[in-house]
Amino acid sequence: MNETTQLVVASMVFDGAGRCHAPGAILLQNERIVASSSPQDIGAVAEAQKIAFEDHVVTPALVNAHSHLDLTHIGPLPYEGHFADWLGRILAERATTTRQGIRESVLQGVALSRAGGTAFAGDIAGEWSLEPLHAMRLGGLPGVSYLEVFGVGRRQAGSIETMQSMIDSVQHDADGVRLGISPHAPFTCGPELYAAASRLGLPLSTHVAESLDELQFCRDGDGAFAELLKTLNVWDDSITAQNAHPVQLLAETLAANQCVAAHLNYVGDAEIQVLAELGTTVAYCPRSSAYFGPPHNGHPPHRYRDMLEAGVNVALGTDSMVCLDTPERISVLDEMRYLYRRDGGESASLLRMATVNGAVGLGVDPSLVDLSPGPIAGLLALPGRTLADVLVRNDPPLWIMGPMR
Ligand SMILES: [Zn+2]
Repeated sequence: MNETTQLVVASMVFDGAGRCHAPGAILLQNERIVASSSPQDIGAVAEAQKIAFEDHVVTPALVNAHSHLDLTHIGPLPYEGHFADWLGRILAERATTTRQGIRESVLQGVALSRAGGTAFAGDIAGEWSLEPLHAMRLGGLPGVSYLEVFGVGRRQAGSIETMQSMIDSVQHDADGVRLGISPHAPFTCGPELYAAASRLGLPLSTHVAESLDELQFCRDGDGAFAELLKTLNVWDDSITAQNAHPVQLLAETLAANQCVAAHLNYVGDAEIQVLAELGTTVAYCPRSSAYFGPPHNGHPPHRYRDMLEAGVNVALGTDSMVCLDTPERISVLDEMRYLYRRDGGESASLLRMATVNGAVGLGVDPSLVDLSPGPIAGLLALPGRTLADVLVRNDPPLWIMGPMR
């Protein structure tokens, strides 16, 4: 076998595990990392093909911990200010999409994710469809495809049966994409469905504390979501006020190995503590949270920094194209940029959220998205002399190695 040795030299090499060299160099052999350091430390490697990226930062490829690639075809949509109405529109849109349409939308999402430098994605396979799983395998985007299930009130028992027969019908791990399960949210899935999903031993994901309507539903059993369930004719007497925060209600699910909880827009100190103790990964989707409006009723902005400080594994997600402002790509790089511009903070911490933390959440070996010696899922060159410089620009990432297949 021919040995290929490459020496990548850049203004900076940076990963989410604490490695930073400026200028930096990465020595690769057959697309595996041998060393990353300063060019002086690595020295001259006579047989290496040298690849120079002046005015670029080289990082590992990224992990998107929460996407909805099956909504890519809808494109960016304006938000009118009512979450329950918005969700109703998305559900109506989905109901009219054919299997072929879903596959094409996800394949488009896969291509835009690759354009965004994504190595792995945790994708929500919308409402009872295995088509997104097949499309991720076909399109070659590794990660987890979480089959999204719904079932509350009268529909709960039937949903548990359907869920089981669907997961029995498909390979759980093939072409780098694992099957996961995603009970949608505490207002669309009853406790028995959550419990059944948690027992499957598959990677789990769910939406938690995304809106104030959800908090009201869990606490008082009324409000916009109660009305929505009545409109959908699924309401029954099993749905009552539970007088608890969604994080408390879902503790059993959130404690399951590899649970990614999306959003957590509205949490207090007690909930942050619970998330840290349970080892839940939080997929924070900054542009999505901003899209649905600033915090209401005196609630503070998203508490991702408090979560990180408390030891919660916070990763980044894009949510769907519907709430993005980058029609040309789907990338957590743009989530990093959004946070950096809004909050400042350490670029190293943002890169960790966009790589290593996401990998942990998806059950992917984190060393595939850092610069440690060994295999790596991909390398990106990002225009800019420092990571902070990259984050104030809007350039797309360039793949210089990978995607790994
Ligand atoms: Zn979502």
